[in-house]
Amino acid sequence: MNFTFGIDVGGTNIKLGLFSVDPFEMIEKNEIATPRHEQRSSIFVAIVEQVTLMMKKHSLEYSQIEGIGLAVPCPVKNGYISVCPNLHWKDVNVVESLSRYLPFSMRVVVSNDANIAAYGENHSLSHPYNNAIFYTLGTGVGGGIIVNGQIVEGRTGSGGEIGHMPVFEGTEMCGCEKTGCLEQACGTKAILDYAKLLSQKHESIIDFRNISVKSVFDAAKENDPVGLMVLDRVAYYLARSASILSVSLDPDIIIIGGGVARVGQILIDRIVSHYQTEARFGTVDVPFILARTGNDAGIIGAAKYAKK
Ligand SMILES: [Zn+2]
Repeated sequence: MNFTFGIDVGGTNIKLGLFSVDPFEMIEKNEIATPRHEQRSSIFVAIVEQVTLMMKKHSLEYSQIEGIGLAVPCPVKNGYISVCPNLHWKDVNVVESLSRYLPFSMRVVVSNDANIAAYGENHSLSHPYNNAIFYTLGTGVGGGIIVNGQIVEGRTGSGGEIGHMPVFEGTEMCGCEKTGCLEQACGTKAILDYAKLLSQKHESIIDFRNISVKSVFDAAKENDPVGLMVLDRVAYYLARSASILSVSLDPDIIIIGGGVARVGQILIDRIVSHYQTEARFGTVDVPFILARTGNDAGIIGAAKYAKK
């Protein structure tokens, strides 16, 4: 039997998973703190240590490992990262670096974490689609675009940064140093800010001293006017951005994931309702679905991406 490793490298933690290839199943997962010092080498040393330990524990030979996939929190182009603030990396060739520390020769692949999640979500469907768009909604809004079964990295690795599509006339500066980004309408901060703003003029069951995205959307499910208006605004801007992507790419499917999407089908229904007004041509009936892989999207996607 063959195996792959899926590794999700974050600024705080590194998640590692060992997966069998056929059938695709998680054998074991582990999480370690991301090393803080000498990160150009220490992160790779820590990964190799964990990989070697898991192989020993399950008595695996090198020849049984098809590959190692890595998801990283920054743009990646052909295995190369020019800047990754979360990991304090500058000019790092991830494939070369990891290969240098591995005691055996191995296929190593790497991509941006949201792109990897997009790949994993699409390949977790019973029939993966050729062309898919994936949104991940959380503190930030990220995404990934799959065209002809391949992740679109683009010229500089910024392909799929759909959280920074300009979708409204804004004045507040985004982290990308522009204004009016999708993330500024649909990220966690935007959701909480808008709910607080609405509460000045509307009655609401939301407890604003302990406000969270969950409490706002739970209120929406109870037909609370503030909860519903916030949900509707998020859905509207997602639909608007999706309609722009649809006339560019004409996707087979649009997948919505991330913590904010835990509100569930009510969000999908609202998006679809706005999308049908916004969409053009035959793109009007593209299906929207909720993501399925949850918290393990990174390691699952990386492990699937590492498959030969
Ligand atoms: Zn932005």
